[in-house]
Amino acid sequence: MQNIAVIGAGTMGNGIAHVCAQAGRMVTIVDVNDEALQRGLATISKNLDRQVKKEKISEADKNATLERIALSTDLNAVAAKADMVIEAATEDQAVKTRLFQQIDAACPEGAILATNTSSISITEIAAATKRPDKVIGMHFFNPVPVMKLVEIVRGLATSDATFQATFQLSQELGKSPVEVQDYPGFISNRILMPMINESVYCLMEGVASAEDIDTVMKLGMAHPMGPLTLADFIGLDVCLAIMEVLHEGLGDSKYRPCPLLRKMVAAGYLGRKTGKGFYEY
Ligand code: NAD
Repeated sequence: MQNIAVIGAGTMGNGIAHVCAQAGRMVTIVDVNDEALQRGLATISKNLDRQVKKEKISEADKNATLERIALSTDLNAVAAKADMVIEAATEDQAVKTRLFQQIDAACPEGAILATNTSSISITEIAAATKRPDKVIGMHFFNPVPVMKLVEIVRGLATSDATFQATFQLSQELGKSPVEVQDYPGFISNRILMPMINESVYCLMEGVASAEDIDTVMKLGMAHPMGPLTLADFIGLDVCLAIMEVLHEGLGDSKYRPCPLLRKMVAAGYLGRKTGKGFYEY
């Protein structure tokens, strides 16, 4: 897979483009306008500079990586030349369904279509295309150039060949992929979000303060960051949306979002991005 199209130049898309180009692939990033594309490219350049400063790569490596990255707002033209598409557009099922229909129509027959979705069903996205066997989840973690994990998520119709090719590509990108079946939250959010949600219950019930809840998980469980600090980083609206997906998709009351989490989102206390969540910033 030499020609990779990355859809979306945001937080995840620019990171995915970065690691693909660094691994020698020709990458074209597609977004809806030039500003988004330029912002994404500037982030890649800044992150490559950081790698040069840390002596992880040379100046020549940085320049060669940047030379392998092109930018475009013409999805059809880019898809027509892609061996593989990795979609990292906004987390919205209608947006992704439309995108996959368009990509499916424009891509060569053999191209694999991957999505970086955190919470939308791979099987449902695949069903919007005429090649569900070639649709797969490729769930990277933020920041992509640093985090080693990729969850490779098999939809119900994903073929073994698609899985093998995607798994191998992830390894060639320097990642450590794991195989996951398509169930709500995959592995990462299925375990992480209920832990965060339970921390919010502890806070709501007055079991302990936010600081003490975080201290227990940091010092007692060797987590690098407490769950409430992590929730503020992720965004409380994102945490709530993923809990709703788990609750609805798995139908078990153990996934019900904590009322305090709902209340904080309703108040606009979304964490770091709004300056206030469980902590003040
Ligand atoms: P983001 O908002 O930073 O970037 C999304 C980008 O997609 C924007 O630049 C937007 O202009 C673009 N976009 C929207 N519609 C488009 C379209 N039709 N065609 C082309 N581009 C389009 O979002 P993000 O945080 O990078 O998340 C992207 C995906 O990655 C989501 O599915 C999200 O669930 C997933 N994800 C996010 C994280 C994270 O930590 N942020 C981690 C893993 C997975």
